[in-house]
Amino acid sequence: MENSTTLAPKKWGFRGNSDLKADPETTIRGVLTMLMSNISISDDRPVIPMSVSQPSAFPCFYTTQIATDAIVESVQATEFRSYPPTEGVLPARRAVAEYLSQGLPNKLSPDDVFMTIGCQQACHAVMHVLGGSNLNLLLPRPCFPYYDVAARTANLEVRFFDLLPEKNWEVDLDSVIAVADENTVGMVIINPGNPGGNVFTYDHLKKVAETARKLGILIISDEVYGHMVFGENPFVPMGAFGSITPIITLGSISKRWMVPGWRAGWLATHDPDGILKEHGIITSLIEYFNVAPLPPAFIQGALPYILTKTEDDFFSRILKLIKEAANVFNEGIKDLPGVTCPTRPEGATCVMVKLDISSFEDIKDDVDFCVKLAKEESVMILPGVSVGLPNWLRITFAIDPSYLQDGMKRMKSFCERHSKRA
Ligand SMILES: *Cc1c(COP(=O)(O)O)cnc(C)c1O
Repeated sequence: MENSTTLAPKKWGFRGNSDLKADPETTIRGVLTMLMSNISISDDRPVIPMSVSQPSAFPCFYTTQIATDAIVESVQATEFRSYPPTEGVLPARRAVAEYLSQGLPNKLSPDDVFMTIGCQQACHAVMHVLGGSNLNLLLPRPCFPYYDVAARTANLEVRFFDLLPEKNWEVDLDSVIAVADENTVGMVIINPGNPGGNVFTYDHLKKVAETARKLGILIISDEVYGHMVFGENPFVPMGAFGSITPIITLGSISKRWMVPGWRAGWLATHDPDGILKEHGIITSLIEYFNVAPLPPAFIQGALPYILTKTEDDFFSRILKLIKEAANVFNEGIKDLPGVTCPTRPEGATCVMVKLDISSFEDIKDDVDFCVKLAKEESVMILPGVSVGLPNWLRITFAIDPSYLQDGMKRMKSFCERHSKRA
């Protein structure tokens, strides 16, 4: 008793890091927890998950057996039981270099590739090697929310440039120039787009690269949805413009192979003129991975087989399903009062829709819309504020089309019930 009082410190020397800012509205997992807590237990209909891009939960989106076989074989192999090397298992780096080099003028070598724990760690890594006091990074608005948190925790000031909904979410290049200054290190683009569901054209990407060069900044290109396109524009990797300005490409097998739980990703540097090397970025990346957690060796060991042997049939079947879901969405969103969709999705798995708050009787904003929708209809949707656009919604359409149909119907009756005209 006496001891415990004498030992008690006057003040603990630790506290939670408020920079992580994991409040419910600005992280996806945070907002999901908040919405889930609003689902009514008396509703016996299934919950419709249109808030998170997780098609792998539905049998129609199961991955290919080629991928699961590769993992089993890799687990059984004796060579992947040790710690993996810092930059990654060499055959995996080679396979990723070849996968990403398809159609590029400057081919990647295994030395340009680092293996990561999903695309998320690739993002974390790049922020941490670029960070430093007084430096800033340009992010698109709207943006996948993890970038904001990762940049701030890496000591980078975040500045936003706009994506233009009326131009199919193209980068507003003037707004990039307006927010950049001599302390800007780089800009992030996400193509195919999350949250916009758009696909940038070759010409637009070239203009983005030329703008970056003018500003003396590098481009971080999130291509986690690479090749997942089903509209007019083909997928063009940003690496095609590496001779204009240095490009760091981030990716993973999470989305295209429908295995986000496997946490297999990469970071690749397109640097034909050696600018990143000259400025210490490659050395910093090696130093980062010397101390960072690494992706499991057997997951890396399976990658060469997964990347080279997956049947085209698998990809086309998945894309056909996603396109079918996008059509269900396009039809369903048409006659929703108070909701407009300026663009049709043509890639990735989600899309932004705009709310006309004034047309609703009793809905305050996008968060209120999502909370009430969860409560009354057991439909989960991400409020736009989570991706930087208040009074918009981010809707994931890549779910089993029959669930999507149901979800769109429930959204319709929700909007009609809360609409002023009702
Ligand atoms: C899902 C996603 C990530 C994270 O990818 P993982 O491989 O699951 O870590 C990164 N960026 C965007 C745009 C995403 O949609």
